[in-house]
Amino acid sequence: MTRLCGVIGHPIGHSLSPVIHNAALRHDGRDAEYVAIDVVDVRGELERLAVEGAVGVNVTIPYKRTTWELALRRSPDAEAVGAANTLLFEEDGGIAAHNTDPAGVLGGLRDLGVSPEGLRCLVVGAGGAGRAAVWALRSAGAAAVLIANRTESRAGGLGAEVVAWDDLSDALAGAEVVVHATSVGMAGEATCLQVSALATSKCRAVLDLVYSPEETDLVRKARDVGIASADGLSVLVHQGAASYELFWKARAPFDVMLEAAFEAMGRRRP
Ligand code: NAP
Repeated sequence: MTRLCGVIGHPIGHSLSPVIHNAALRHDGRDAEYVAIDVVDVRGELERLAVEGAVGVNVTIPYKRTTWELALRRSPDAEAVGAANTLLFEEDGGIAAHNTDPAGVLGGLRDLGVSPEGLRCLVVGAGGAGRAAVWALRSAGAAAVLIANRTESRAGGLGAEVVAWDDLSDALAGAEVVVHATSVGMAGEATCLQVSALATSKCRAVLDLVYSPEETDLVRKARDVGIASADGLSVLVHQGAASYELFWKARAPFDVMLEAAFEAMGRRRP
C-alpha cells in the first residue's frame, strides 16, 4: 500500500516541500507519496489523515501553533520553539509534534563552515523563523544570542538579549554570526541590514533565511564584504531532510533533495 505523507497549510500552492520530499522518495524507492494539502479545518484533516494511515505531515502557515497545541507529545525542539513544523501519526493514535526548523538553521550554518558554539550571534527578525533561529543558536552553545526586531515588543521572552532596531548597525558590527529572519528580500527587494557595518567586524557568516528565485541582496552584499553567506534554500532542504528522517526513520538523501530544490527554483547550485 502506498504510504501517504505531505504538508498542510493555507494557502499551500507555493510550497517546495512536495518537490524535495518526492525527489527523496523516488531516489530511495519508497512506495510513498508526499502531497500538498490546502486545509481549512485542521483538526478534521488530521483525523482524516490518521484514519488513512498517513505517516506524518509537515505543517506550514497558519497551523504551526494550532497543531503544536493539538499534539499529544512534543519534541524538545518543538517545545522550545512553541510551534510544530512536523507531525507524526503514532501507533497509539496520538500525534507527536516536532520542529525541524532549528536543525535547518544549524545545517545552513554548517554548510558555511560555522558552528555557533562559543560565538556571539545576532538574529534579525522575531517571527516564527526568528524564534526557531534563536533556539537553534542557544541549543548549539552560542556564547550570546542577541535579537533585533522592527516591532521590539515581539522580540522579548525568547531567551535572547533584545537590541533596539535603531541600534542594529552596532549589533551587526559586534556579531560573529548573523541570521536574518525577517521577510525582507522575498520579493527581490534590498536588505534592511546595513551590511557595511560588517566590513570591519569579526563576522564569520551571514545566513539569510529568505530565499527567492535569485540569491538575495543580503547574501550578495555580505559576500561583497568578504563574509561567507547563503540564503534560505539550503536551510529549507536541511529542515526537510530532518523531517524526512523523522517520517522514515532513515537517512535522507540530502544531495538529491538539494538538487531538486535548486532545479524547482530555476537556480544553479553554487
Ligand atoms: P513572520 O512570522 O510573518 O515574521 C515576519 C518577520 O519579518 C517579523 O520579524 C517582521 O517584523 C519582519 N518584517 C516584515 N517586514 C519587515 C520590514 N519591512 N522591515 C523589517 N522587518 C520586517 O514570518 P516567518 O515565518 O518568521 O518568516 C520570515 C522569513 O523567513 C520569510 O521570508 C520566510 O519565507 C523565511 N523562512 C524561511 C525558512 C527556510 O527554511 N529557509 C523557514 C521559515 C521561514 P515585525 O514583527 O516588526 O512585523
